[in-house]
Amino acid sequence: MDTRRNFLKGAIASGAAVSTVALAPAVGARETRPRPAEALGLLYDATLCVGCKACVSACKQANENPAEYSTADHLWDTPLDTSGYTFNLIKMYRNGSMETKDAEVNGYAFMKTSCMHCGDPSCVSACPVSAMTKDPVTGVVGYNADKCIGCRYCVAACPFGIPKYQYDSPTGRIGKCELCRHRHKDGQYSACAEVCPTGATLFGRTEDLLAEAKRRVAMKPGEVNTFPRGRLKSQAEKNAAAQGKVAQTTPKWRAEPDQSYETQAGKYVQHIYGDKEYGGTQVLKLSGVNFQKVGMPNLPPDAAAAMSETIQHTLYGNLIMPFAVLGAMSFIAKRNVKPDDTESDKEEA
Ligand code: SF4
Ligand code: SF4
Ligand code: SF4
Repeated sequence: MDTRRNFLKGAIASGAAVSTVALAPAVGARETRPRPAEALGLLYDATLCVGCKACVSACKQANENPAEYSTADHLWDTPLDTSGYTFNLIKMYRNGSMETKDAEVNGYAFMKTSCMHCGDPSCVSACPVSAMTKDPVTGVVGYNADKCIGCRYCVAACPFGIPKYQYDSPTGRIGKCELCRHRHKDGQYSACAEVCPTGATLFGRTEDLLAEAKRRVAMKPGEVNTFPRGRLKSQAEKNAAAQGKVAQTTPKWRAEPDQSYETQAGKYVQHIYGDKEYGGTQVLKLSGVNFQKVGMPNLPPDAAAAMSETIQHTLYGNLIMPFAVLGAMSFIAKRNVKPDDTESDKEEA
C-alpha cells in the first residue's frame, strides 16, 4: 500500500513539476496575429450617424433574416439587441436632457454593434471543429453551419458578445456578421455601408479605413471637410481613375460614381477604436463620446486567442493535462477506497 501511495504522490508531484517547467517558457510564446495586409473592414463614424437604421434593415435583407419584434403591435422590426437573426444594430447612448448630439453630458450618441472581424479572433481559436474561420486574404471571419456542432464556445470566447445562437431553431446555428462576403463575388460590398446615407458606415481595405480615420481625428471640429460614402477606394484605384484607367482589385468591385460630400467635422475622441484593441480589428470606430460609455469594451492590445492557444497547446501537446488529470483522478479514487475494501482485497488475494 505504501508503495502505491508513494507511486501516486510521485505521479502527481512529477505531473505538477513537468507542468511548471513546460509551461513557464511557453506561456506568451505565440504572438498576436496581425490583420492580413489586404484585410477588408468597415469604418463606423458615430459623429456622422443619424440613427436612421437603414443599415440594420439592409443587413436583414442581405442575410435574409426575419424581423424581430419588441412591441405588441408586431408591425416593425424592432430588435433590442443583436441575435441569431440580427447581425447589426445601432444602439443609443442617452444622458440627462439629451440636448446635444455626441455630447457625454446632456447628450446622446449612436454606436454600431456587429462583428469586429478581429485580426486574431477568439471565436476562431475557440471553435473545436473549424466552423469559424478567418479568410487568409480578406481576413473576414466566416461561419460554416454545416461544420458547427452547436457547442457555443465561440459565443463564450468573443469579447464583444457577437456570435449569437438561434435557440428557437431545431437545427440551431450561430448568427453573426460575415461582412456580406456572399455579395463580394458579384462585386457588391457590405449592405450596411452601401445604404448608409451619410457614410457613417464605410466599407474598404482596413489600411485605407485606418488612414481615413486618422485624417478625421485630426480635423478641427466645425471645419468643412469631404467625407466619402459607400466604399472607400484605395489610393491605387484613385491613381488609376485619375489616368482614366480602372485598377485591378480583389474582389473585383462594381463600378459606382463617387459619392463623397462635404459637411462639418464633428468633435472626435482622439482614439481609433479597433486600431490596437485586442491586437487590432478590421472594423474600426470613431466616436464623439468615450467608447466605454457607448458600450465598447476596454480591451488590452493583445488578443486573448494568443495566450489561450499557447496554454492549450502546451498542456495537450505535451500531454501534461491528461497526465495531471489521470494523477488527480487516481488520487481521488484512492482516497475513496475504504479500509474494509483493502482488507477484503487482501483476504481474496
Ligand atoms: S468580434 Fe467576436 S465574433 Fe467577431 S471576429 Fe472578433 S471574436 Fe469573432
Ligand atoms: S457587413 Fe453585411 S452582415 Fe455585416 S453588418 Fe453590414 S450588412 Fe450586416
Ligand atoms: S445607415 Fe448609417 S446613418 Fe443610418 S443608422 Fe446606419 S450607420 Fe447610422
